[in-house]
Amino acid sequence: MRFVDAHVHLSDEEYSKCIGEIMADAKKSNVVALVSNSMDLKTSNDNLKLAEKYPRTIYVALGVHPWNVKAITDDELQQTLMLIEEQKQNEALVAIGEIGLDQKYDKILERQRSVFKEMLNAAEKLDLPVIIHSRGMTTQIVDMLPSYRLKGVLLHWFSNPISALFKAVEKGYYITEGAPTVYSNETREVVKKVSLTNLLTETDGPVRFFKPPFNGKRTTPAFIPTVVKAIAEIKELEVKDVAEQIIENFEAFFRVKLN
Ligand SMILES: [Zn+2]
Repeated sequence: MRFVDAHVHLSDEEYSKCIGEIMADAKKSNVVALVSNSMDLKTSNDNLKLAEKYPRTIYVALGVHPWNVKAITDDELQQTLMLIEEQKQNEALVAIGEIGLDQKYDKILERQRSVFKEMLNAAEKLDLPVIIHSRGMTTQIVDMLPSYRLKGVLLHWFSNPISALFKAVEKGYYITEGAPTVYSNETREVVKKVSLTNLLTETDGPVRFFKPPFNGKRTTPAFIPTVVKAIAEIKELEVKDVAEQIIENFEAFFRVKLN
């Protein structure tokens, strides 16, 4: 069986000293492809270097995260957009991400909106799908996206509301779920309701999960088979059928052919 991690942050500082171990864990667990998401200009550059080191295994999403919009200067924002444009022929570049809006940081919501729009424009221009962070803003985001001509939309760590899930699926959007699939009733309900053809798996590492069986230990791609097993149990399907469908979804969404 092969697995994928469609949303991880391999350029995070926490992974900087153990990337070899993380990639060895991925290999051992049959996680054959990972999409490393960016937060800002630095992590975008670092992700590109990682993709060069692990070709056809590490893919990248470039962009500016809503948490980072406060610290980023206009100059850095322009440099990030230029970097994305320069990389348009790079096969490792599969999406613009992680981008979006976060209600928790409502004091910087205006800045979040303007950076998000720049990122959506870049995705439209380069014909790339987007990976979206939408805490507290999912309905607004799902309603605003049809005004952009986007190749694909992936709502990462989808939690609520279910009404936005139905709207998203109807539009052909994908969602990713990770460790909470094992222990969170809210996430399990989402997994139950979403069609398997719109679902992908993630770790969002290095984010840690404190509930069993994860117990706050370092997040690695080795978590993915546990997540797939949980999805299979919720959907009452064979684990191998779920794993295969998720591989197909990954290839369709990111337009790559996996090893
Ligand atoms: Zn993330």
